[in-house]
Amino acid sequence: MMKREGLVAVLSGFSGAGKGTIMKHLLEEYPGRYNLSISATTRKPRTGEVDGREYFFKTKEEFEQMISEGKFLEHACFNGNYYGTPLDYVKNLTDQGKDVLLEIEVQGALQVKKIFPDAVLLFVTPPSADALKERLVGRGTETPEEIANRLSISTRESQLMEKYDYLIVNDDLETAVQDVHDIIESEALKTLRNKANIEEMRSELKKFAKGEENS
Ligand code: 5GP
Repeated sequence: MMKREGLVAVLSGFSGAGKGTIMKHLLEEYPGRYNLSISATTRKPRTGEVDGREYFFKTKEEFEQMISEGKFLEHACFNGNYYGTPLDYVKNLTDQGKDVLLEIEVQGALQVKKIFPDAVLLFVTPPSADALKERLVGRGTETPEEIANRLSISTRESQLMEKYDYLIVNDDLETAVQDVHDIIESEALKTLRNKANIEEMRSELKKFAKGEENS
Protein backbone atom coordinates (compact mmCIF):
# COMPACT_ATOMS: atom_id res chain seq x y z
CA MET A 1 0.00 0.00 0.00
CA MET A 2 1.12 3.54 -0.73
CA LYS A 3 1.17 6.35 1.77
CA ARG A 4 -2.12 7.96 2.68
CA GLU A 5 -2.82 11.68 2.58
CA GLY A 6 -1.51 13.61 5.61
CA LEU A 7 -4.08 15.07 7.95
CA VAL A 8 -4.30 18.34 9.83
CA ALA A 9 -5.45 18.05 13.46
CA VAL A 10 -6.37 21.26 15.24
CA LEU A 11 -6.41 21.47 19.03
CA SER A 12 -8.13 24.45 20.65
CA GLY A 13 -9.49 24.96 24.11
CA PHE A 14 -9.90 27.28 27.02
CA SER A 15 -6.84 28.94 28.46
CA GLY A 16 -5.86 26.62 31.33
CA ALA A 17 -7.50 23.52 29.77
CA GLY A 18 -4.10 21.89 29.29
CA LYS A 19 -3.87 21.80 25.48
CA GLY A 20 -0.19 22.73 25.50
CA THR A 21 0.56 19.88 27.93
CA ILE A 22 -1.42 17.42 25.81
CA MET A 23 0.60 18.49 22.73
CA LYS A 24 3.88 18.07 24.62
CA HIS A 25 2.92 14.55 25.71
CA LEU A 26 1.81 13.55 22.19
CA LEU A 27 5.18 14.61 20.78
CA GLU A 28 7.11 12.84 23.55
CA GLU A 29 5.08 9.63 23.67
CA TYR A 30 4.90 9.12 19.89
CA PRO A 31 8.30 10.33 18.61
CA GLY A 32 8.33 10.99 14.87
CA ARG A 33 4.59 10.39 14.60
CA TYR A 34 3.45 14.02 14.70
CA ASN A 35 4.69 17.34 13.34
CA LEU A 36 3.86 20.44 15.33
CA SER A 37 3.33 23.61 13.33
CA ILE A 38 5.19 26.64 14.72
CA SER A 39 3.14 29.81 14.46
CA ALA A 40 4.17 33.40 13.86
CA THR A 41 3.07 36.00 16.41
CA THR A 42 3.46 39.67 17.24
CA ARG A 43 3.36 38.99 20.98
CA LYS A 44 6.63 39.53 22.85
CA PRO A 45 8.62 36.39 23.76
CA ARG A 46 8.10 35.19 27.36
CA THR A 47 11.09 34.28 29.52
CA GLY A 48 12.68 31.13 28.14
CA GLU A 49 10.95 31.28 24.73
CA VAL A 50 13.20 31.00 21.69
CA ASP A 51 12.51 32.46 18.22
CA GLY A 52 11.74 29.57 15.84
CA ARG A 53 11.00 27.10 18.65
CA GLU A 54 7.85 28.31 20.47
CA TYR A 55 6.99 30.92 17.83
CA PHE A 56 8.46 32.97 15.02
CA PHE A 57 8.35 36.39 16.68
CA LYS A 58 7.46 39.18 14.24
CA THR A 59 6.76 42.90 14.31
CA LYS A 60 3.25 44.07 13.42
CA GLU A 61 4.59 45.36 10.07
CA GLU A 62 6.29 42.05 9.24
CA PHE A 63 3.16 40.12 10.18
CA GLU A 64 0.90 42.34 8.06
CA GLN A 65 3.30 41.95 5.13
CA MET A 66 3.03 38.16 5.51
CA ILE A 67 -0.78 38.41 5.54
CA SER A 68 -0.74 40.42 2.29
CA GLU A 69 1.59 37.86 0.68
CA GLY A 70 -0.85 35.04 1.53
CA LYS A 71 1.68 33.29 3.76
CA PHE A 72 -0.88 32.13 6.35
CA LEU A 73 -3.18 29.14 6.42
CA GLU A 74 -5.13 31.12 9.02
CA HIS A 75 -4.49 34.06 11.28
CA ALA A 76 -6.32 35.76 14.13
CA CYS A 77 -6.03 38.49 16.70
CA PHE A 78 -6.00 37.22 20.29
CA ASN A 79 -5.62 39.42 23.36
CA GLY A 80 -4.30 42.29 21.21
CA ASN A 81 -1.69 40.29 19.25
CA TYR A 82 -1.62 38.60 15.86
CA TYR A 83 -1.09 34.83 15.61
CA GLY A 84 -0.87 32.85 12.36
CA THR A 85 -0.07 29.40 10.98
CA PRO A 86 2.47 29.25 8.09
CA LEU A 87 0.75 27.72 5.06
CA ASP A 88 3.87 26.36 3.30
CA TYR A 89 5.03 24.34 6.31
CA VAL A 90 1.68 22.60 6.75
CA LYS A 91 1.13 22.03 3.02
CA ASN A 92 4.62 20.54 2.45
CA LEU A 93 4.11 18.00 5.23
CA THR A 94 0.58 16.95 4.32
CA ASP A 95 1.68 16.59 0.68
CA GLN A 96 4.26 14.06 1.93
CA GLY A 97 1.55 12.13 3.81
CA LYS A 98 2.59 13.45 7.21
CA ASP A 99 0.19 14.51 9.96
CA VAL A 100 0.40 18.03 11.36
CA LEU A 101 -0.84 19.29 14.72
CA LEU A 102 -1.93 22.90 15.21
CA GLU A 103 -2.53 24.39 18.65
CA ILE A 104 -4.51 27.52 17.89
CA GLU A 105 -7.43 29.59 19.18
CA VAL A 106 -11.00 29.24 17.95
CA GLN A 107 -11.30 32.00 15.32
CA GLY A 108 -8.27 30.66 13.45
CA ALA A 109 -9.28 27.02 13.94
CA LEU A 110 -12.55 27.55 12.12
CA GLN A 111 -10.69 29.17 9.17
CA VAL A 112 -8.52 26.06 8.73
CA LYS A 113 -11.46 24.13 7.24
CA LYS A 114 -11.57 26.59 4.32
CA ILE A 115 -8.19 25.35 3.05
CA PHE A 116 -8.24 21.86 4.62
CA PRO A 117 -11.93 20.85 4.64
CA ASP A 118 -11.06 17.45 6.11
CA ALA A 119 -9.07 18.88 9.04
CA VAL A 120 -9.99 17.30 12.38
CA LEU A 121 -11.02 19.86 15.01
CA LEU A 122 -10.66 18.95 18.69
CA PHE A 123 -11.74 21.13 21.59
CA VAL A 124 -10.11 20.63 25.00
CA THR A 125 -11.96 21.50 28.18
CA PRO A 126 -11.49 20.80 31.88
CA PRO A 127 -14.36 18.82 33.46
CA SER A 128 -16.08 21.94 34.86
CA ALA A 129 -15.95 25.74 34.91
CA ASP A 130 -14.85 25.60 38.57
CA ALA A 131 -11.95 23.33 37.62
CA LEU A 132 -10.97 25.80 34.88
CA LYS A 133 -10.89 28.71 37.35
CA GLU A 134 -8.94 26.66 39.89
CA ARG A 135 -6.31 25.79 37.27
CA LEU A 136 -5.87 29.43 36.26
CA VAL A 137 -5.56 30.51 39.90
CA GLY A 138 -3.26 27.54 40.69
CA ARG A 139 -0.81 28.47 37.90
CA GLY A 140 -0.07 31.66 39.81
CA THR A 141 1.17 33.36 36.64
CA GLU A 142 -1.80 35.69 36.07
CA THR A 143 -3.19 38.58 38.12
CA PRO A 144 -6.87 38.41 39.22
CA GLU A 145 -7.71 40.84 36.36
CA GLU A 146 -5.98 38.60 33.82
CA ILE A 147 -7.81 35.57 35.21
CA ALA A 148 -11.14 37.40 34.88
CA ASN A 149 -10.19 38.37 31.31
CA ARG A 150 -9.25 34.77 30.39
CA LEU A 151 -12.54 33.49 31.85
CA SER A 152 -14.55 36.00 29.82
CA ILE A 153 -12.66 34.93 26.67
CA SER A 154 -13.55 31.31 27.60
CA THR A 155 -17.24 32.25 27.91
CA ARG A 156 -17.15 33.64 24.35
CA GLU A 157 -15.19 30.64 23.03
CA SER A 158 -17.71 28.22 24.56
CA GLN A 159 -20.29 29.47 22.02
CA LEU A 160 -18.29 27.81 19.26
CA MET A 161 -17.68 24.39 20.81
CA GLU A 162 -20.22 22.59 18.60
CA LYS A 163 -18.29 23.66 15.52
CA TYR A 164 -15.56 21.23 16.57
CA ASP A 165 -15.60 17.55 15.64
CA TYR A 166 -14.52 16.19 19.03
CA LEU A 167 -14.67 17.24 22.68
CA ILE A 168 -11.71 16.21 24.82
CA VAL A 169 -12.42 16.40 28.55
CA ASN A 170 -9.06 16.83 30.23
CA ASP A 171 -9.73 15.40 33.67
CA ASP A 172 -6.98 12.80 33.67
CA LEU A 173 -4.06 13.94 31.45
CA GLU A 174 -3.01 10.48 30.24
CA THR A 175 -6.60 9.65 29.22
CA ALA A 176 -6.87 12.93 27.32
CA VAL A 177 -3.57 12.29 25.49
CA GLN A 178 -4.72 8.77 24.60
CA ASP A 179 -8.11 10.07 23.39
CA VAL A 180 -6.45 12.59 21.05
CA HIS A 181 -4.06 9.96 19.69
CA ASP A 182 -6.86 7.40 19.18
CA ILE A 183 -9.03 9.94 17.36
CA ILE A 184 -6.21 10.86 14.97
CA GLU A 185 -5.38 7.19 14.36
CA SER A 186 -9.04 6.45 13.50
CA GLU A 187 -9.35 9.52 11.32
CA ALA A 188 -6.24 8.42 9.41
CA LEU A 189 -8.00 5.17 8.47
CA LYS A 190 -10.97 6.92 6.87
CA THR A 191 -11.46 6.01 3.24
CA LEU A 192 -11.46 9.68 2.20
CA ARG A 193 -7.82 9.94 3.36
CA ASN A 194 -6.84 6.74 1.57
CA LYS A 195 -7.98 7.45 -1.98
CA ALA A 196 -4.56 6.61 -3.48
CA ASN A 197 -4.50 3.26 -1.68
CA ILE A 198 -7.99 2.44 -2.91
CA GLU A 199 -7.06 3.34 -6.51
CA GLU A 200 -3.90 1.24 -6.27
CA MET A 201 -5.84 -1.77 -5.03
CA ARG A 202 -8.40 -1.32 -7.83
CA SER A 203 -5.81 -1.11 -10.58
CA GLU A 204 -3.94 -4.16 -9.25
CA LEU A 205 -7.16 -6.11 -9.16
CA LYS A 206 -7.80 -5.10 -12.78
CA LYS A 207 -4.41 -6.57 -13.74
CA PHE A 208 -5.45 -9.91 -12.23
CA ALA A 209 -8.72 -9.82 -14.13
CA LYS A 210 -6.81 -9.22 -17.41
CA GLY A 211 -4.41 -12.07 -16.54
CA GLU A 212 -7.34 -14.39 -16.10
CA GLU A 213 -8.73 -13.42 -19.49
CA ASN A 214 -5.36 -14.24 -21.14
CA SER A 215 -4.82 -17.54 -19.36
P1 5GP B 1 -0.01 32.35 23.93
O1 5GP B 1 0.20 33.82 23.74
O2 5GP B 1 -0.50 32.03 25.32
O3 5GP B 1 1.17 31.54 23.51
O4 5GP B 1 -1.21 31.92 22.94
C1 5GP B 1 -2.44 32.57 23.01
C2 5GP B 1 -3.45 31.83 22.15
O5 5GP B 1 -3.08 31.90 20.78
C3 5GP B 1 -3.56 30.34 22.48
O6 5GP B 1 -4.94 30.01 22.53
C4 5GP B 1 -2.88 29.67 21.31
O7 5GP B 1 -3.43 28.39 21.06
C5 5GP B 1 -3.25 30.63 20.19
N1 5GP B 1 -2.38 30.51 19.01
C6 5GP B 1 -1.07 30.17 18.95
N2 5GP B 1 -0.65 30.14 17.68
C7 5GP B 1 -1.71 30.46 16.90
C8 5GP B 1 -1.91 30.57 15.48
O8 5GP B 1 -1.03 30.36 14.65
N3 5GP B 1 -3.15 30.92 15.07
C9 5GP B 1 -4.17 31.17 15.93
N4 5GP B 1 -5.36 31.47 15.41
N5 5GP B 1 -4.02 31.05 17.26
C10 5GP B 1 -2.80 30.71 17.76
